[in-house]
Amino acid sequence: MKVLVQKYGGSSVATPERIRAVAQRVAKSLNGEYKVVVVLSAMGDTTDRLLKMAYQITPNPSSRELDMLLSTGEQVSIALFCMALESLGISAVSLTGAQVGIITDSAHTKAKIMEIDTRRLQQELQQHQVVAVAGFQGINVRGDIVTLGRGGSDTTAVALAAVLEAEKCEIYTDVDGVYTADPHLVPNAKKLERISYDEMLELASLGSKVMQARAVECGKKYGVKIIVRSSFKENSGTIICEEDPSMEKEFIRGIAHNTSEAKITIRNVPDQPGIAAKIFGILAEANIVVDMIIQDVSEHGTTNISFTVEKTDLPQALKLAEKVSQEINAKGVSADKNIAKVSIVGIGMRSNAGVAAKMFQTLSEENINIQMISTSEIKISCVIEENAVQRAVQALHRKFELDKESIENEL
Ligand code: ADP
Ligand code: ASP
Ligand code: MG
Repeated sequence: MKVLVQKYGGSSVATPERIRAVAQRVAKSLNGEYKVVVVLSAMGDTTDRLLKMAYQITPNPSSRELDMLLSTGEQVSIALFCMALESLGISAVSLTGAQVGIITDSAHTKAKIMEIDTRRLQQELQQHQVVAVAGFQGINVRGDIVTLGRGGSDTTAVALAAVLEAEKCEIYTDVDGVYTADPHLVPNAKKLERISYDEMLELASLGSKVMQARAVECGKKYGVKIIVRSSFKENSGTIICEEDPSMEKEFIRGIAHNTSEAKITIRNVPDQPGIAAKIFGILAEANIVVDMIIQDVSEHGTTNISFTVEKTDLPQALKLAEKVSQEINAKGVSADKNIAKVSIVGIGMRSNAGVAAKMFQTLSEENINIQMISTSEIKISCVIEENAVQRAVQALHRKFELDKESIENEL
């Protein structure tokens, strides 16, 4: 049995009319050759609205109850979608993450998929033309509902495509592919025909929310052919695949930005072995992901350590940083929420010197101060003030000539 996995995001199923339109699109694509698994997100901004309601009840909702609440959004979508398909004469059934057998760890609100027991799904696929699966959710070994982190329906779709050995996994969204930068920030950004898993993984991890990073990671691991395309238009989209030598010609594939992190600084930290291990060990124990870290040059036996965490983790991270600061006799802790991270990504960077210098020069010409820098083989990221983010992304896009049709960009 050949299987196709399609995922439709929130804006694609924002209203009952949109759900009917998606049902019609899926119905049209059924030709007897494939069984289709359709993964759906919650309608429009439902997840945001549910979150807002939780915080209207209490400033500290428990993560277990948050998951119980947030998982309802996707269930509404799959039920309505199956009703729409049935009204078109298509046999369809909806399943929650638990019913599909998506078993996760217990990290509520950011759980990882451990395994998928496909027996029920296979059975339903035998009996129906379409199986609709609630994205973004699974169940832990205790039997509690968990969610997979914001944007997690992408991961549901790619993971299902992997276990079902689907021909491809189509991610339908409100843009017609992956662009050289967020097209809502850079109007002349260019659509990419193809992008390697590694580049997409970097872009996604660095803030391009068109795909959840974990979904790309899973796609790379299991060799799933992922196609990002529009649910509103018929355009061909962007293929995410293994890199090939021609991809190295362009050394910058795209620019990502992220305004969801905050910076914490611990001042006058004793410059001794074991101190960094203590600070970051405590944060890791609390399941807080630390992104960039910088340590100043030591002066008079002390140093300042700055690091970034997700804004949603900031209150807890600050509390822990203050506690550890007292324990190690540091001078105190401060936080800055008004930061943004701007990153350039490309596998061709590996073999081209001067990319970093050009990035720093571009920011300097815009009079934008760089607060932190981090690099890997295929990316360079700078933390800057949040207000300058659009100017920075547009200037970099211009400077690296990403809007041009040429294959090789100029240094
Ligand atoms: P969905 O609800 O379908 O999952 P998302 O809002 O999560 O959609 O992702 C699509 C959005 O990703 C686009 O509307 C766009 O603003 C944003 N985006 C960020 N970077 C990029 C990029 N490089 N290419 C395309 N879209 C991008
Ligand atoms: N509804 C969830 C979110 O808004 C999951 C998703 O859309 O992928 O993050
Ligand atoms: Mg998304």
